[in-house]
Amino acid sequence: MTSKDLVENQSKCTGCEACAQICGKHAITMVENSEGFRYPIIDESSCMNCNLCRNVCPIENMPERYDGDKFAFGGYIKDEKVREESTSGGAFSAIAEIWCDTNYVIFGAETKGLDVFHGYIQDKVALNRFRKSKYAQSQIGDSYKQTKKFLEEGKKVLFSGTPCQIAGLKSFLKNTDTENLLTIEVICEGIPTPLYVRKLSQYFEKKHGAHIESIDYRYKDSGRWDFEVMLLNITSKLHLRRTYKYDRWFNPFWSIWLQHLMSRPSCYECRFANTSRVADISLGDLWGVHIYCPELYGNNKGASLIVCNTAKGKQVLLNSLGLLYGHELRFEDALRFQGPMRKSIAMNPQRGQFMQDVISLDYENLVKRWAKRSSFKLLFNKYVFGNNAQKVLWFNIKKKLRLI
Ligand SMILES: Cc1cc2nc3c(=O)[nH]c(=O)nc-3n(C[C@H](O)[C@H](O)[C@H](O)COP(=O)(O)OP(=O)(O)OC[C@H]3O[C@@H](n4cnc5c(N)ncnc54)[C@H](O)[C@@H]3O)c2cc1C
Ligand code: SF4
Ligand code: SF4
Ligand code: SF4
Repeated sequence: MTSKDLVENQSKCTGCEACAQICGKHAITMVENSEGFRYPIIDESSCMNCNLCRNVCPIENMPERYDGDKFAFGGYIKDEKVREESTSGGAFSAIAEIWCDTNYVIFGAETKGLDVFHGYIQDKVALNRFRKSKYAQSQIGDSYKQTKKFLEEGKKVLFSGTPCQIAGLKSFLKNTDTENLLTIEVICEGIPTPLYVRKLSQYFEKKHGAHIESIDYRYKDSGRWDFEVMLLNITSKLHLRRTYKYDRWFNPFWSIWLQHLMSRPSCYECRFANTSRVADISLGDLWGVHIYCPELYGNNKGASLIVCNTAKGKQVLLNSLGLLYGHELRFEDALRFQGPMRKSIAMNPQRGQFMQDVISLDYENLVKRWAKRSSFKLLFNKYVFGNNAQKVLWFNIKKKLRLI
């Protein structure tokens, strides 16, 4: 068997790593390609053609998806500190708090420098390791195998990740009792190449003799959740520390990523970008909150969309309500502002050129060539009116529609 046989069209491989973990011969390793994305490579000399890797691949054998009734909830965690430390409204922490009462393990994505890895904790005190969205694909390592072992030992497990990782996990656990497993997926628009932040890091080293220690992709700069501020923690050779902050409207990273120039190929044909979900609970930002339920927008410190796809997910959310401020939503309302739950992102026809440039150009030239500058109108709307302009606009449109 060759790695080409694993998934007929390599562009469909999500990098979930289920194949690498199931192989008893350790014949599969995940290797980064020229675009910075990791793909399985089979060592032919160790392979005994058992086909386990092919059978576990969710692209070939998709695990059960939940398409039935959804229970949607909008809101945020009442604990202000946790809300501030979280990307959206801190729903992940509220659910973890309730599901993980005794004898539990929590899996999530954490950063080590510029890279992201899946890990686990057995004490909720350390939950902040997993808080915050990291816009890079996490390396799963042995976490599916570890989940299986913990479940077999009778522990309660909470596993969080992207939908393709949850599909990899569920496929891996096909013959395991999952009564004690709760899965949480982030509503996912794609995973960008790590080459961009590495270029950014080289730029800091060359220009400032400093390196990036860590990135907070979604820093809530004094209650500016929907400005998606990126914060870089920099340390110079003299061990001086400082931070750089970029609002979404001035940040080349968001500009390039949102033009769909640097996502993993599988993200442009994502099998999970619809309402048929793979996890018990899907979590996202409550985008559009200022328009359709402004009472949850509050002071712009972050709001979560929680979609329960299974009865288990709904029960855990209902048990968590004491920790949350918010209310039930019409799923259709939430869906209108959630592109990744409706369709995949479209590939930018210039992606190939961008990928060549991210390898060959230096950071300054890369940004000059590909990042769009925000229009004066947009900046004026955001910084002067905030979201009030949109509220007024939406109100007017609704009024007009009612008159037609
Ligand atoms: C790459 C990516 C793209 C996203 N795109 C969208 C989007 O288009 N629309 C939208 O509404 N929401 C999106 N989200 C989800 C959103 O940003 C929040 O993660 C989600 O609302 C949970 O926020 P919280 O405040 O409840 O939890 P937090 O406490 O911030 O928890 C973050 C959770 O995300 C997990 N996580 C963080 N980074 C990664 C990663 N790299 N890989 C796997 N799991 C990770 C952690 O394990 C944890 O469970 C995206 C998240 C990621 C990681
Ligand atoms: S066919 Fe079996 S031995 Fe070969 S790579 Fe796949 S799982 Fe490993
Ligand atoms: S199991 Fe996951 S990593 Fe392996 S080939 Fe399939 S999608 Fe790719
Ligand atoms: S967009 Fe789809 S394929 Fe890409 S990381 Fe997200 S869930 Fe996986």
